Amino acid sequence: MEIAALDLEGVLVPEIWIGFAEKTGIDELRATTRDIPDYDVLMRQRLDLLKQHKLGLPDIQEVIATMAPLEGAQEFVAWLKERFQVIILSDTFYEFSQPLMAQLGFPTLFCHRLIADDSGAIVDYKLRQKDPKRQCVKAFHSLNFRVIAAGDSYNDTTMLSEADAGILFHAPDNVIAEFPQFPAVHTYADLRAEFLKASERDLPA
Ligand SMILES: [Mg+2]
Repeated sequence: MEIAALDLEGVLVPEIWIGFAEKTGIDELRATTRDIPDYDVLMRQRLDLLKQHKLGLPDIQEVIATMAPLEGAQEFVAWLKERFQVIILSDTFYEFSQPLMAQLGFPTLFCHRLIADDSGAIVDYKLRQKDPKRQCVKAFHSLNFRVIAAGDSYNDTTMLSEADAGILFHAPDNVIAEFPQFPAVHTYADLRAEFLKASERDLPA
C-alpha cells in the first residue's frame, strides 16, 4: 500500500499569501518566514494587516478564488490519484485553501485552521500540531503504508526524510544544495517519473 504525500504551495498552487498580497496590493502581506522567522509574530502581523484593511474571511476567499493552480497541476493530481492514495500535507489553512482545493477536485488535505468571529473577521489561527508533515508520515507508517513524498521547501524536508522516498519539486537552489539526498525535478513529467521510480509496484506510466 502506498501513499503519495504532496506539499501544496509551490507544488500544486502558487504561494497563497504572496498571491493574495498581489491581488489586494497589500505589499506587507508578502512577508514570509524568511523575513520574520518567528511564525507566530508573522501570523499576528498578517492578521493585524487583514483587520486594518477590513478584510474578513469571505472577502479573502473571494480574492483567492481568482487564483488558479499551477499549470498542469490538475492533470498531475488526476494522474497521481489513479496510481496512489493522494494526501496533501500543507502548512496553509483550510479557510484559505478552499477555493484552490475546489479547482483541484478536493483531494484530502491535512493543514491548519483560521478562527473567524461572527462578522467574518479572522481573530486567531490554530496549528493542528508541531512538525505536522513529519507526524503524518509517521502515522501513515504506523498504518502500514509506504510513503512517497514531494515538496519544494524547508518546511517539507522533515517529511521527505521521514518518507520512504522524498522528492524535491520546484525547489530553490539553496534547498537543492542543502539536501542532495533527494532527487530534484522541475516539471510534472519528471515528477511523475520520480513517483514511478520510487514506487515498489509496477505502475503504468
Ligand atoms: Mg511549499
